[in-house]
Amino acid sequence: MAKGKSTPVDLSHVRNIGIAAHIDAGKTTLTERVLYYTGASHKIGEVHDGEARMDWMEEEQEHGITITAAVTKCPWKDHLIQIVDTPGHVDFTIEVERSMRVLDAAVIVMDGVRGVEPQTETVWRQANQFELPRMFFVNKMDRPGADYGRCLEAIRERLEGEPVPVCVPLSDDSIVHLVNRERYTFSGDMGEHVAVGEVDADTWASVAEHRESLLLAVADLDEELAEVILMEEEPDPDAVWAALKAGLAQNRINPCFAGSALRNWGVQPLLDGVLKLCPAPLDRPPSTATTSDGDEVLVEMDPDGPFAALAFKVQMMGGRRHVFARIYSGRLAPGDQLLVPRTGDKERVARVFDVDAARKSKLDSAYAGQIVLLAGLRKATTGDTLTSPDHPLLLEPIRAMNPVLGLAIEAGSSREEEKLLEALGKVLEEDPTLRLDEDAETGQRVLRGMGELHLQIVFERLQREYGVSARAGKPDVVVRESIAGPGRCDNLFHRVIDQGDASIELKARAVAEVEPRGRGEGMTFDVAPAILPAGTSVNAGMEEAIQAGARDGAICGPVEGAVLQDVAVAVLEVELFGPSSSVHAVRAAVAEAVRKAIVHAGGVAMRPIMATEVVVPEESFGTVLGDLQARGALIQDTVTAHGVATITCETPLQKLLGYTTNLRSMTQGRGQFSMEFSRFDAL
Ligand code: GDP
Ligand code: MG
Repeated sequence: MAKGKSTPVDLSHVRNIGIAAHIDAGKTTLTERVLYYTGASHKIGEVHDGEARMDWMEEEQEHGITITAAVTKCPWKDHLIQIVDTPGHVDFTIEVERSMRVLDAAVIVMDGVRGVEPQTETVWRQANQFELPRMFFVNKMDRPGADYGRCLEAIRERLEGEPVPVCVPLSDDSIVHLVNRERYTFSGDMGEHVAVGEVDADTWASVAEHRESLLLAVADLDEELAEVILMEEEPDPDAVWAALKAGLAQNRINPCFAGSALRNWGVQPLLDGVLKLCPAPLDRPPSTATTSDGDEVLVEMDPDGPFAALAFKVQMMGGRRHVFARIYSGRLAPGDQLLVPRTGDKERVARVFDVDAARKSKLDSAYAGQIVLLAGLRKATTGDTLTSPDHPLLLEPIRAMNPVLGLAIEAGSSREEEKLLEALGKVLEEDPTLRLDEDAETGQRVLRGMGELHLQIVFERLQREYGVSARAGKPDVVVRESIAGPGRCDNLFHRVIDQGDASIELKARAVAEVEPRGRGEGMTFDVAPAILPAGTSVNAGMEEAIQAGARDGAICGPVEGAVLQDVAVAVLEVELFGPSSSVHAVRAAVAEAVRKAIVHAGGVAMRPIMATEVVVPEESFGTVLGDLQARGALIQDTVTAHGVATITCETPLQKLLGYTTNLRSMTQGRGQFSMEFSRFDAL
């Protein structure tokens, strides 16, 4: 472990970036190159050998994918680039979203042959949510069929982005830099030697179109430059960089770089571009937050302000709970007490670490703009704001997600039971997209998550990381219920309970109405009933009992007893009968009225519907489309271009279980699909 550092970091020299992509676009390969060139890693680990450094969890290496977002630091030309590696698989989108929330810019990696892919679009939408500045690295330019111009077009057409070429790859594995007006060639085992040359007239002419598109974009961004460009004069590179930087910070343009990570071609100009163009933490607009009075305030990224940070990930390390946080304001030292305004808990930070992949080193203090790892927090969890105790406020939280798939899990033997529960507890803390439900009747434990791969990997971790022997059932989708139409019930509740020689009478009447709401609109409770007989005054205890009764009655649906949603519940009338209308009697009467109104309305079982996109070679289009229809997919759109067919549809999740394997065999392994939860619905 490194010695404690106390010098405040110079934030103007820090860039917090994420690298995001559709699976297989080359994100991990690119990241490995970056680590190598910046000296952060001395040996390039290739993905196919299962030893890439960022993919440090064993599961990731086995599946050849990236799951855990790990922070890695790369010193580059007097700056520090902090990379948060983001996973490409759709089951782990929350990891992408969590990291985007705390980034200052993203590099989106594209496959130069495939162009914009489903997951590229998902990542794009997520980045839109946070107004995150984005650059592109068009990768795999070494592959036959790669087309830079077409990729830029796709960014404009499909993503509605504003692509601006900064670098153009040439067929001889060199790069023309349009701003610096230089040509780079890469040599050495890992392309670590970059030779700078002049661009001859022929080459310059061959990239004229891209050059023109850069100049037009720059002219749009800066009036002075517009004049220079109009006069057909050469603009000053520094002025062009400045215009591009401002344009990126305002999210008006998307600077584009290109090359091939695998062939060590074009990566260093991308790194230079990150330094030149991406905003430093202090260049980012202030974040919005809410005070305890509900007022909206702006939090400036200011080391001298009151402390505020956002916890964006919880991870167990060496059996201890650690919290990743981005500091937005103020400073922090070990021993400081923090407030979690969501719960009102105060917690003490025992240690502050600098994180670098799976390694961590102790810090004496940390400042606004930094991403740090905190030990000692027992309760703060993903999405929590952490503040100084006298300045409570809530930063914009991270969106919660609906787990859609369940996996019944049981211990391999009764002796393992406790161990399993403990391990599950730890896994659940790390991953807010997981839930553990216990079936009250069967005692069966069901782990719920975002998809098959997600659950499979958690299950594997339980066995490998925690050494628990466990069995799992078949994955099953989560069911929710709603009602089919309006329902009403006028209910008289009357019980006499014998207690030896005495007896207690419970009596109350309640009228309830229920109505369906739109999908995804949630539950509402309108509980301000007329109290009869007229003129009866009720105390607070009675009001609470009525409220509680309404909720008791609307917990589950009438079909399978699944969680009820999208229902408007109203309690219209409550009639009291003197002393026999105790709070217990009233609560029971209201609950029963609501429950009966729901039964009367009639229930519908709803299952997860996934917004699905399937991309296949044109020749498998017919087969794949037919198969999707047989799975009950609602086809929304089909597009065929460049020999590739894209099918956009909505599909019930239960019909997509095992689809990865089916799709592979229908397309000789060339088909891809992605899905995203849309809503619970009866389809
Ligand atoms: P990720 O899923 O985005 O992290 O993609 P990976 O980095 O794991 O790469 C997916 C596959 O594409 C691997 O087999 C890589 O070796 C390969 N690959 C990555 N970059 C390039 C490239 O520039 N050119 C070619 N031809 N293959 C590449
Ligand atoms: Mg990867």
